[in-house]
Amino acid sequence: MTAQIIDGKKIAAEIRADLAKKIEASDDDYMPVLAVVLVGENPASQIYVRNKKKAAEEVGMGCEIYEFSDTIGENALLKSLQELNENHHIHGIIVQQPLPAQINPQKVLEVISPEKDVDGFSPYNTGLLQANDPHAIVAATPKGILKLIQSCCDNLNGKRAVIIGRSNIVGKPLSMLLLNQNCTVTIAHSKTENLPDLTREADILVCATGRPKMVKGDWIKEGAVVVDVGINHDENGKLCGDVDFDEALNKAAFITPVPGGVGPMTIAMLLENTWEAYIHQKQHEDSHSCCCGKHHAHECHCHH
Ligand code: NDP
Repeated sequence: MTAQIIDGKKIAAEIRADLAKKIEASDDDYMPVLAVVLVGENPASQIYVRNKKKAAEEVGMGCEIYEFSDTIGENALLKSLQELNENHHIHGIIVQQPLPAQINPQKVLEVISPEKDVDGFSPYNTGLLQANDPHAIVAATPKGILKLIQSCCDNLNGKRAVIIGRSNIVGKPLSMLLLNQNCTVTIAHSKTENLPDLTREADILVCATGRPKMVKGDWIKEGAVVVDVGINHDENGKLCGDVDFDEALNKAAFITPVPGGVGPMTIAMLLENTWEAYIHQKQHEDSHSCCCGKHHAHECHCHH
């Protein structure tokens, strides 16, 4: 068997094109806007933030970057986030990690208003996800992974899913998403015993460990769907995932490549979350719309 490749790049491009169409057709006066908060000058963070801005602008979404010095105090940062919460022309707020030591990341997550928390990391949104509430804003990477799995698997009812990795940004939220789809879910981690025996039972195997080529061909059940979340470099400095791709090709039915699998979906899902947050806030604010029938981000100039 040679696995079919799940083309995350293509699926993400379709999602972005669809978003671009919806944004084009929506109210020009009041466009969706993502605020990205960047503290300090971490070069990797600066690249991620630039990429997010570029991706947002490509679909016609606004993106504002709020930069703060790495010496900013916790209270000052929390106050700025409160201001973004109250700013009606901003619909989504994300805070780029990592943060300097004086800032408690949990406090940051708690202060962002749940309807603008488009990373879906706040305790409120993770709670909604756990309750299988459709209003949950779901973190971009696990949301994208579920779409990739659904692109090759119509019915997830009763499927055995094994997720390697229990982080708050990937493993744990994905376990809830798959459970909500009626999968039987096991989460593995660094203390899990007999891991290959476990993964060999998986109809759906997701690996999110950051360990290059850790999952070997004989860890995989014949015909499984394999999603590789890892972004690593091999011994030759070449980009690779957590799965030994060449070995997995002979066992899996479907597999995501690295690069071109999960990565492109993450950014597409962030944009989708921002769009959905915008629609939700717009519906709420339409009840306060202007006498001219539109909602204005700024003062109304319709002179009615
Ligand atoms: P974390 O480091 O937060 O978590 C890694 C998880 O893997 C932990 O739960 C850890 O176990 C587990 N683990 C580590 N080694 C082993 C092992 N030998 N056997 C079993 N489990 C192990 O990572 P993230 O979740 O943030 O990211 C995981 C990978 O995914 C990284 O490569 C990251 O770059 C990539 N990533 C990619 C994204 C994308 O958009 N494509 C987005 C986010 C992440 P324990 O808890 O016991 O320590």
